[in-house]
Amino acid sequence: MYHSEELKKDRAFIEKWESIVSDKTVFMAHFLAFSACLAAHVMYLILFAAAGVWAMVIFNVFSVIFYILTIVLTGRVKDNMHLVYATLTEIIIHAVAATICIGLIPDFCMFLLMIIPLAFLMPNKNRQVPFVIMLVSVGLYGVLRFKFRAPDSAVYKLDDTAYLTFLYIINILAGSFVLIYVTTIYTFMRRYMECKIRVQTEQLKLLASTDPLTKLYNRREMGTILEGVRTNCGEKNTKYVVGIGDIDGFKQINDTYGHDCGDMVLSTIAKLITDSLPKGGNAARWGGEEFLFVLPDTDIEEALATSEKLIKTVENHSFTEDGIQFKVTMTVGICEALSSENTERVIDTADNRLYDGKRSGKNKVVYED
Ligand code: GH3
Ligand code: MG
Ligand code: MG
Repeated sequence: MYHSEELKKDRAFIEKWESIVSDKTVFMAHFLAFSACLAAHVMYLILFAAAGVWAMVIFNVFSVIFYILTIVLTGRVKDNMHLVYATLTEIIIHAVAATICIGLIPDFCMFLLMIIPLAFLMPNKNRQVPFVIMLVSVGLYGVLRFKFRAPDSAVYKLDDTAYLTFLYIINILAGSFVLIYVTTIYTFMRRYMECKIRVQTEQLKLLASTDPLTKLYNRREMGTILEGVRTNCGEKNTKYVVGIGDIDGFKQINDTYGHDCGDMVLSTIAKLITDSLPKGGNAARWGGEEFLFVLPDTDIEEALATSEKLIKTVENHSFTEDGIQFKVTMTVGICEALSSENTERVIDTADNRLYDGKRSGKNKVVYED
């Protein structure tokens, strides 16, 4: 069951997320990611220069220029996604080039796997792109791990273990950063979407089950509620009561004060009905100016008392239109039922009693034939 407390929490989360996720924060997220890439490549440039791996130094000079460009272009290009895809391509080529140059020990290959979730995180109209990136990355990963499994198969034969281990630790940290960044964003996005679906489903359910003017249940929803009440009473061996109320002379109200005023009377009476029902009771707009209510675990005496109180409340209420005060009355027919009885027949009986009340003077509750 989806409770109102959860609905409140979901709404609060959606509001919070929507207030955080603006163009500015998206820009900042890209800006931070590209800046982190720039910092990492400046560091690689220095580290490769220190070991004399000149091919990678030249590569990283281009990488640094590339990341400076992406930072400058962030927010200036129409869609930052192209920059992110360019970055993914750079990371893939960098991982391949570094492995060819200095072998598997610093594990540049790990980036080929760690960027895969990033490819799937990004919104993309073309659904095949992340799969292509994944296949390319995994394929390259397998080829590199196989080709460079021999210790001296790399182009530069580095034997400084401390240097290689340091590079390995740097790579683990950088790779973990990518994974943490991606999974954090993914977790929030997923929660946001789940909340949005729950809240929207609830809104749709409400729209499909209530009458927009009176905010009472509509006829269809009341059908479901009645079935529920009938089953429940059957299990508990109790009775329930169905009541139908119809506003007296409502056409006259429309004719005298206008249709809008008629609408106001309908919604006010709906509220008076809801307030008059005991706990467990439910009301619906059954037709134009007709209301149906159901009282579970109730016998005819209790229902009569509730209905008498209700018509008195309606009668005592003063309506005002253009400074003119007027009063309205309502006639009610009620019928007690057992779960074994046919609901349609119970409703028909209440309806017949209502019309007996209309014929015999209105503003009354009729509880027997
Ligand atoms: P009675 O005492 O016999 O019940 O007479 P009545 O005038 O209340 O009943 P009648 O069936 O003659 O008229 C009902 C009117 O209710 C006619 C219809 O235009 C009006 N009505 C139905 N739905 C709405 C609504 O949503 N808004 C408004 N303002 N009027 C409505
Ligand atoms: Mg009427
Ligand atoms: Mg009517």
